[in-house]
Amino acid sequence: MPVTETRLLLKHADDPAYGIDLASYEKVGGYEMLKKAVGLKPEDIRTEIKNSGLRGRGGAGFPCGVKWDLVDRKSGKPIYLIVNCDESEPGTFKDRQLVHKDPHQLIEGVMISAFANNVALAFIYIREEMPKGAKILNQAIEEARAKGYVGANICGSSYSCDIIVHRGAGAYICGEETGLIESMEGKRAYPRIKPPFFPAVLGLYQCPTIVNNVETLCNVPHILRMGAAEYCKIGRNNNTGTRIWCVSGQVQRPGYYEVAGITFGQLLNDICGGPLPGRKFKAIVPGGGSSKILRYDEKFKGKKPDGTPHEFTFDEIPLDFDGIASAGSMSGSGAVIVMDDSVDIMEALANLVAFYAHESCGQCTPCREGSLWAKKMTHRMCGGEARERDLTTLYDMAGNIGGRTVCPMGFSTTWPVQSYIDKFRPEIEAKTRENRLGMSRDARLIEK
Ligand code: SF4
Repeated sequence: MPVTETRLLLKHADDPAYGIDLASYEKVGGYEMLKKAVGLKPEDIRTEIKNSGLRGRGGAGFPCGVKWDLVDRKSGKPIYLIVNCDESEPGTFKDRQLVHKDPHQLIEGVMISAFANNVALAFIYIREEMPKGAKILNQAIEEARAKGYVGANICGSSYSCDIIVHRGAGAYICGEETGLIESMEGKRAYPRIKPPFFPAVLGLYQCPTIVNNVETLCNVPHILRMGAAEYCKIGRNNNTGTRIWCVSGQVQRPGYYEVAGITFGQLLNDICGGPLPGRKFKAIVPGGGSSKILRYDEKFKGKKPDGTPHEFTFDEIPLDFDGIASAGSMSGSGAVIVMDDSVDIMEALANLVAFYAHESCGQCTPCREGSLWAKKMTHRMCGGEARERDLTTLYDMAGNIGGRTVCPMGFSTTWPVQSYIDKFRPEIEAKTRENRLGMSRDARLIEK
């Protein structure tokens, strides 16, 4: 039987009868969990979130409850909560849907999380390129404030907390939590060095700060309503809850899909309708531009729960954090970019590398210079000005970026470059040669 979506966060999002106003949200039980939360002990909510196994949906998949546990609660400084809505990883567009189509769900999640962590001021950092989202959020916050869900004495309790929508200036690096904090402080978004600048201890204004993704916090009211034990029944162990995947590229039905407990093949074939007519899937970027590319025809090696080795196909990869990790990549921001057999892999790589070169903040040399080198080299390959051996230079150079930089963005150049070459070396070499030979008569003579 073909699989379908499991809609929890997007349950009402595409219902034409469902508005984005407060009355619509209240009609489906909205803010009931906030009313319940302010009557609970903050530490009990934190325990519930921890027990739910909720993992961050922004990229790294770090457990949300553990992140909250790391907050320095003894310093006497205020604790801040920042919602990371700087969605800019190539291929990602899920947070935008949550903001545009159900803003009060996010606001309720923010307020419960703020209460659970004794936060008196929360921020939603939204990227510059989402002006409609900022407007929707500001309107929703005003509605919620007027009804006592935001601001002073929330739901008649002694707890008060406000939310400020802060618009970014449009840089990819502001999605990195410490870059985001620098940007919020009015500075250039240079990521901070960890240690010592772990946001849980030294974050915004050098105070303990929690930075959570939009989708992560939208799960919070649902966990409180269902209870951690019920929530854990969605998905599989260590990969609980639903996940929203943004599918783009060459499939019959690209879009955003909220699913749980299915395989990659079920997402692409059953839900997205498979490849375009007459085409075959060739490669898939499973978790946003910076994740390692996978071949569709690849056989992956793994272990069964009892420890015995087994081989599995792309279609059999469990569509979750651990499943994609077992295939050698990562689920990242949930952005699935599909390429069929019409795609020139080398041009796809050159396009991606140009993005990361443009978005490097420039603070550290390996990333600033390395990403630019990678851009120049891939563009030379596409333009017929490179030789096959340049591929080895490009591969080695990329290996000297990630892990030698201030923030993880160094890997955003390393992983695509190395994985595209690892998986498609013969094709890229042939294309490099073909481009060179096709460039000029002189080039053809050199080849001879
Ligand atoms: Fe900036 Fe790149 Fe260094 Fe990150 S790795 S701090 S983006 S230069």
